Amino acid sequence: MPRPLIATIHLDAMQHNLARARACARGAKVWAVVKANAYGHGLERAMRGFADADGLALVEVDYAVRLRELGWTKPILLLEGFFDASDLPVMAQYGLNGSVHCEEQIALLAAARLPHAIDVHLKMNTGMNRLGFTPDAVAGAYARLRAMPHIGTITLMTHFANADEAAPTRLPLAQQMLRFEAGAASIGAGVGTSLPRSLCNSAGLLLHQLDSDWVRPGIMLYGGTPSGAPGGTSAQAFGLLPTMTLRSSIIGIQDIAAGDVVGYGSRYEAAGNIKVGVVACGYADGYPRHAPEGTPVLVDGVRTGLIGRVSMDMLMVDLTHVPGARVGSSVTLWGQGMPIDEVALAAGTIGYELMCALAPRVPVNEA
Ligand SMILES: *Cc1c(COP(=O)(O)O)cnc(C)c1O
Repeated sequence: MPRPLIATIHLDAMQHNLARARACARGAKVWAVVKANAYGHGLERAMRGFADADGLALVEVDYAVRLRELGWTKPILLLEGFFDASDLPVMAQYGLNGSVHCEEQIALLAAARLPHAIDVHLKMNTGMNRLGFTPDAVAGAYARLRAMPHIGTITLMTHFANADEAAPTRLPLAQQMLRFEAGAASIGAGVGTSLPRSLCNSAGLLLHQLDSDWVRPGIMLYGGTPSGAPGGTSAQAFGLLPTMTLRSSIIGIQDIAAGDVVGYGSRYEAAGNIKVGVVACGYADGYPRHAPEGTPVLVDGVRTGLIGRVSMDMLMVDLTHVPGARVGSSVTLWGQGMPIDEVALAAGTIGYELMCALAPRVPVNEA
């Protein structure tokens, strides 16, 4: 019998969440973001789950090529653009759109001889100070790109740092939009303001009403919320469904008494008689090792909590109040019945990190 740990990917939930994103998009076309192996869900599965998207966006050039080989014919966007001159002929050959975010990329484009034009997203840094041209520099970048015969459509793009917060003390979305509009207007004679725009990530879509031509949802398509913040709206309240359920089984039980300790470092000490269940799932499967006591786990449909340190292949849970639990009982680490945002919050991280960290050794099926 195989080890009982398995991740189930719910393709119908992916389709459902994409429809939710579209309903928030105010008519914009939707790039379904599938970077990082589709947030751990598998590229080929994402291609099927998001078959209705207008395009797929990711950062890995080789995975973009793979999408074409798998038969994706609609647009593909490289969110970080290209990394090297050798990527450019690949982009032209496979029809990949790329973001252009720095002078070095423009220099590489200027030097390239390409058989087909490529469409680009010209990225503006509106305050996040990650990638992009400042609003002051964007008109110059636009002019240089527009003069190149092998550049097709130019779309203006920016990325929001705090779209998930209602009233952030730093860099609210409105401030980023003011800078974006100033940058767009600086591309003269009404040209910049009429260029297509690519604006919102999931947080922007769920919590703001912006008009644009393209939106770029990621986490909401996988049934997670952008921040998982306490007090924030839950994925369920946003009408999103979990797309990945990580399940395992109880493989051992220990009845222990007051003063007995559990696991490496003996972090947990029992205050009284308790029943400890051992679950086949550990940090080598992608479960966060830093998850503290009480991180929620579902056993036989009953909510209980983690006890002791997570080991490489196992973790322990409290079965004292799960009366029917036995070896073989079903355990849900996250997904249907156990929101990934709650597990992430308890473990001091975000759902994104848990999904992306699902280890290759975990078998995956579809439902
Ligand atoms: C990852 C990414 C997104 C998607 O963000 P989510 O928070 O997952 O919706 C959108 N745009 C860019 C540029 C990204 O890198």
